[in-house]
Amino acid sequence: MHTKDAITGIHHITAVASSTAETIDVYENVLGLRLVKQTVNFDDPFTYHLYYGDALGAPGTILTFFPWADLPQGKPGTGMVTAIAFAIPRASMDFWNRRIKATGRALKTGERFGDPVITFSDTDGLPIELIGRVDLPPTTGWDRCPIPGDHAIRGFHSATATLHGIKDIQALLEGEMGMRRQLQEGARYRFMMADQAAPGHLFDVVADPAAPPGKPGGGTVHHIAFRTASDETQAQWQSKLRQAGRHVTEVRDRKYFRSIYFNSPGGVLFEIATDPPGFTIDESVEDLGTTLMLPDQYEPIRTDIEKRLPSLQRNAFYHGFEDTSASTKAGRASAT
Ligand code: ZN
Repeated sequence: MHTKDAITGIHHITAVASSTAETIDVYENVLGLRLVKQTVNFDDPFTYHLYYGDALGAPGTILTFFPWADLPQGKPGTGMVTAIAFAIPRASMDFWNRRIKATGRALKTGERFGDPVITFSDTDGLPIELIGRVDLPPTTGWDRCPIPGDHAIRGFHSATATLHGIKDIQALLEGEMGMRRQLQEGARYRFMMADQAAPGHLFDVVADPAAPPGKPGGGTVHHIAFRTASDETQAQWQSKLRQAGRHVTEVRDRKYFRSIYFNSPGGVLFEIATDPPGFTIDESVEDLGTTLMLPDQYEPIRTDIEKRLPSLQRNAFYHGFEDTSASTKAGRASAT
């Protein structure tokens, strides 16, 4: 496959939350992502599907949630994506360290392949990482982002899946999906996707034969989607993966992209999603995320849906956290 036909990076990651309000609180208020789309789960229309990302919800920046209030809490473990890593400027490690601590969350700091890492959990226990880089690909800044521009998240850095072994998944990632194994550190194997100028072009696998299996539910990742450029390249992937014996679904229209799904060896649900058409298909850039958008099939029951969905409370940004360092002031000034 030519580079333009390749899997270029992560498209989005979808997780399960127990509360709509908590996702706003953590991902918009604390992390400064933009809620770019309020819609419903197309397979379960009385549940929200909330998309957070950069100003446009560009592929490689999108973290999405199904808030299922009645679902028991899950536990990250093998057969799942067990950590979601965002890229931040390396000079902002201290800012983020203080910001996360100011929310009362416990955090750990460490290093991975030479980069500094902050690890914490969201309110449901979903593991989130902030990885400091000096060579960050650009993402589109959001003018009402609560984070000063210099410090803002620049999309995904990577995602980590935990599996009992590396062999079978490596055959898929390298053999069929065209990723390149790049680095290894202990039981962690890093695979690189084709567009190194794009956010989220890294996928890590931790091979741990003793790790307990994941339990799906609140605070766990539901699936990970990788990017493809067009409907044509998606069809090529569908046929290539089927020829390799993978059970790949038909193409499903998700309105903002089109998707195919299959189970990867070890159990992680993979999706391959098209870059187009994107989130501005039904809202202007300025209005993204401000209104509940429904696919055509659910418009006739909009009133019912709106009645049953919890209201989305948008609230304070800084949580009493005020950073007064010179670098932050400079960042804030340059962000306006
Ligand atoms: Zn998806």
